[in-house]
Amino acid sequence: MSTIADNLSTLAARISAAAEAAGRAPSDIRLLAVSKTKPAAAVREAFAAGVRDVGENYLQEALNKQGELTDLPLTWHFIGPIQSNKTRAIAEHFDWVHSVDRLKIAQRLSEQRPDGLAPLNICLQVNVSGESSKSGCTPDELPALARAIVALPRLHLRGLMAIPEPTDDRTAQEAAFAQVRQLQAELDLALDTLSMGMSHDLEAAIAQGATWVRIGTALFGARDYGQP
Ligand SMILES: *Cc1c(COP(=O)(O)O)cnc(C)c1O
Repeated sequence: MSTIADNLSTLAARISAAAEAAGRAPSDIRLLAVSKTKPAAAVREAFAAGVRDVGENYLQEALNKQGELTDLPLTWHFIGPIQSNKTRAIAEHFDWVHSVDRLKIAQRLSEQRPDGLAPLNICLQVNVSGESSKSGCTPDELPALARAIVALPRLHLRGLMAIPEPTDDRTAQEAAFAQVRQLQAELDLALDTLSMGMSHDLEAAIAQGATWVRIGTALFGARDYGQP
């Protein structure tokens, strides 16, 4: 059975190879370890292997894990759907939010971000798969939303996030990621982040400019949603 450290070195090799194939520096691509459903002990093991950024989808689960890992200098990223009544805790306990797709949520995060903390890093989630996904703003909504978010004082809009429809077809994967990159370029804002690519499609995402790849399964193993 492979350990988290072994998985991390395999991932580092995949990321480097994909970066080199794209003529990019491997150091321009950062790995976000997605630990949903995995215990704090797994995050601790990942930290020991070199992981510093952790992504979580469910607030209560994330807060519980944070409470068990206060001794580690981890950077926490919220990557799941956001309900209005969760924004205060997210604004207080995370450094990044990748899944903002409505102005109301962004306004609340800005208002609720504590003064003592740096502005909250934000990625705007865009839906490039049409009706097959309910999360993310539409490409049409994106420009106005991005401009409104840039104006919010306690947020720092860093870029876009997308979760394209899963497919094994490399050409289709790249087409979706290229659309995200193009949408970002058209915004013509000073953005430095593209959060795209997961375990099965990180190579295509890196070929199209990903700066964060969000990796769960390839790092921590398959998720079992049957277990608490
Ligand atoms: C679960 C999840 C991931 C990780 O997916 P894997 O396929 O396990 O690598 C990445 N991003 C988001 C938003 C997720 O919910």
